[in-house]
Amino acid sequence: MAVEQISLSGRKKVVSNKEMTFIEKIYLLTILKGLWITLKHLFRRKVTIKYPEEIREMSPVYRGQHMLMRDDEGRERCTACGLCALSCPAEAITMKAEERKPEEKHLYREEKYASIYEINMLRCIFCGLCEEACPKEAIFLTKSKKIANADYSREDFIFGKDKLVMPLEMAINNTKSNTAN
Ligand code: SF4
Ligand code: SF4
Repeated sequence: MAVEQISLSGRKKVVSNKEMTFIEKIYLLTILKGLWITLKHLFRRKVTIKYPEEIREMSPVYRGQHMLMRDDEGRERCTACGLCALSCPAEAITMKAEERKPEEKHLYREEKYASIYEINMLRCIFCGLCEEACPKEAIFLTKSKKIANADYSREDFIFGKDKLVMPLEMAINNTKSNTAN
């Protein structure tokens, strides 16, 4: 016994092989129907924007490019504890820890620092869990609209400290404005 197939979408149509009428054969009605649909869309609110001339307003909870923070004295905050990497659901973070040398006290805040810190931007889903997990307030997802520029090679999407560490001038400016307030 043949089992009747149920249409999951509810839009199943039975195809008919009946002979087309003259009107159907010249497709005039079908073309007019198509044009009517196009015309209706002309007066609807546009869902697209003219990027890059227009830039869409971001959500207040938007999370953009990561930044490895510096303290008030410009020293890197990260101690390479690895908690951010452990909490990352996409396993996008890798790092290598090193002992700070006495002459490097002005560069790194703690006795241990990340000599290599990398985030694979092709894996990252910008969930912000690395920021939540960090006990040193060393990593933040910024409000910057930048995520990762389009590129041709996968290696270019692995962002190292050169792209992630807060620029020194920014740390100095932050300290200045904090002192002024
Ligand atoms: S934002 Fe989420 S996915 Fe991206 S590196 Fe941080 S924890 Fe991993
Ligand atoms: S960014 Fe924070 S959580 Fe990640 S290794 Fe550095 S100190 Fe630890």
